[in-house]
Amino acid sequence: MLACSFCESQATKSTKALKTLFSEAEIWLQNNFGLTFIDKYSVLAVYPQDINPSFNPRQKQRSLGLCEVTFKIQNKQKSISKILIKVEIDMPLFKTKNVILHELTHFWQQSNFDHFDKMKIEFIEGQAEYVAWLHDRSQQLEGVVSRRLQDKSYPYGTGFQKFKQLEIPPTKLFNKKYMQKVHAKYF
Ligand SMILES: [Zn+2]
Repeated sequence: MLACSFCESQATKSTKALKTLFSEAEIWLQNNFGLTFIDKYSVLAVYPQDINPSFNPRQKQRSLGLCEVTFKIQNKQKSISKILIKVEIDMPLFKTKNVILHELTHFWQQSNFDHFDKMKIEFIEGQAEYVAWLHDRSQQLEGVVSRRLQDKSYPYGTGFQKFKQLEIPPTKLFNKKYMQKVHAKYF
């Protein structure tokens, strides 16, 4: 339920509308970081309970998106069998876009890093938040961009702050080997 009629008019109401935004996000990632998604993924616009079954509208912590990657192991080789990205329905457009960039970063992390499960949560969330922040900044969302700068919450805000300070060159931000080194050295 949205109070502002402008936000309401721009809200993402369907999986179809969500898919269009994902295509735009992919183009932005390609143009800015040379990133292309080879693996196919599915997208679903869902209600909060579909992301978190114990969702309670009064709770502060709320997941707005989720990236589920299912792996299969064949002849001791691990490969991706299914990727599903869920994004909460009905959010204002700017928020939906932010969540999409965040989740696409998680998708990239999970399909690239050698030991994703063992990596520090501050790094995982920090990179996702930083990429989404760069996107917001490119869209001139000044209010959102400056609010993020003040966020010191763990692990999203603190992870973001670390990434911001590191000033990673755009050509390296989605470079698997380089980012694994960043993780080992700074997190
Ligand atoms: Zn996340």
